Amino acid sequence: MAVSMEREVPVLRDNHSLSLVPCGHITANNVSNWWPRVMTCVRDSHFVAVDLELSGLGPRDRLNAKQIDDRYEGVVSAAKSRAVLSIGLAFFNFCDNDVNETTINTNSEINCDTNSSERTINSDNLNECLSDSVENVNKFEALLDPQLMAKLENESNGCVDSSDKQWKISAQVFNALCLCEEEYVCEPETMRFLAGHGFDFNGQCLHGLSYHRGNDFLTEYEDLTTPSLRNLIAEIIRHKLPIVLHNGFIDLIFLYQNFYSDLPQDLQTFIADLVELFPAGIFDTKYIADFHDRLNRSYLEYLFYERQRFNIERSMKGQISIDITFPSLSHHISSDIEFKDLSTKILSESDLIVDICYDYANHGWCKLNHTCSRSHNIDHILDQKKNRSKRMKKLIKNMKKKSEELRIESTSGGDNSSIESVNTKHSKQGVHRAGYDAFMTGYCFAFYIAINAKTRPNPSKPLCVKSLGISHIVNNIYLTGKDQSLRINASSFAKTSANHKNKIQRIRAAK
Ligand SMILES: [Zn+2]
Repeated sequence: MAVSMEREVPVLRDNHSLSLVPCGHITANNVSNWWPRVMTCVRDSHFVAVDLELSGLGPRDRLNAKQIDDRYEGVVSAAKSRAVLSIGLAFFNFCDNDVNETTINTNSEINCDTNSSERTINSDNLNECLSDSVENVNKFEALLDPQLMAKLENESNGCVDSSDKQWKISAQVFNALCLCEEEYVCEPETMRFLAGHGFDFNGQCLHGLSYHRGNDFLTEYEDLTTPSLRNLIAEIIRHKLPIVLHNGFIDLIFLYQNFYSDLPQDLQTFIADLVELFPAGIFDTKYIADFHDRLNRSYLEYLFYERQRFNIERSMKGQISIDITFPSLSHHISSDIEFKDLSTKILSESDLIVDICYDYANHGWCKLNHTCSRSHNIDHILDQKKNRSKRMKKLIKNMKKKSEELRIESTSGGDNSSIESVNTKHSKQGVHRAGYDAFMTGYCFAFYIAINAKTRPNPSKPLCVKSLGISHIVNNIYLTGKDQSLRINASSFAKTSANHKNKIQRIRAAK
């Protein structure tokens, strides 16, 4: 690996990596700084997860029309009149477990920041683990699951050495603010929701990356290298990256119209275009959750935290699990990174009596939003039905005491100013970012691969659904209110659109 001349800043050294997820904030001011890094991600990743923040969706009856062709027409008209406010991109890369690099050169390839001896849970018993370092305390805080604890009680040596079963996965998360240069409709309900979740409308207007909808302008025709949203999507297409979305029907249509070209008239042509645009596959985590994992709830936040707990449980049992790491970033862009704690928290006894909101628990949405007096915290929701044993109660008490002591120690020294504090009742509802939604989507997909694939993805080769044995989940898009998915299959009678033919040729011909 080449040695960078730039100063390396260790952004993340925490073993329990999801407690500090970095997200690169891309604006018109810094896009040229980020561009080489993002291009490296496009080139070297196994897949990209995408999420869009939109200014509105148009009339709801059209979005949920019974006929899928009508639904398509409804979303097309929304994509031509509304705009993308921000785009979240999360790049994932399955790594070798024996990689020992600890920092990443921004001009070089992606590798995992790995120290397997520290990551493995291998103490002889829980008490020993509990009295260990801050990292272990954090880790075990997340492990206090009653069912799991009961299992551990039956095993003489509670923790399992599972280093070779822990798949190292490197993730890089970005959130780009977008500004459509054409007139577009902003729906009050959407604005209220986004403003209530801390969306920075001022920042979007002042520093958003400007773009126009529809076909390329002639001036853009041969320029595929200038940093722009359009060229970013073109690069993802050129490198044939698999794309992962959550409930992706609307996002795919908006992505096409806003950053690629004018949409085809009919759904069949759109599907034919998609087959060529993403030949390595389109994946939808809501489809996977509903049709394959058969989970009773499949909104993104629930899915992410539920999968995270399941992953911890598998790790403790020595089964294949995933371990996400975030490469360090060089100094000149580190000021444009924000952090968020996305780790699951097993709550203390006093939190268990919290009244949870069942609207939110069932649908991931509540009309009262921030004014709701009941808890929307997913950890409360996930904890609601679990009974706690005496041993659990004792452990929680010890853990609480220990983590409080350690918190005092760690905050008395060092600078933690960039770390978002998460100790409120609505802790999971902090600032809403398309980048973090993209990350959660990618996490769920990576976890699905870890527990279902026949083999481990080859670190140096593209993701191959066939050799992984996951062909049954590829190219199925979730359709709200339907018991069947939308299949993205090239049919013998549907032709691709003229706009697409023209553009894809230029993209594929680029160096
Ligand atoms: Zn509520």
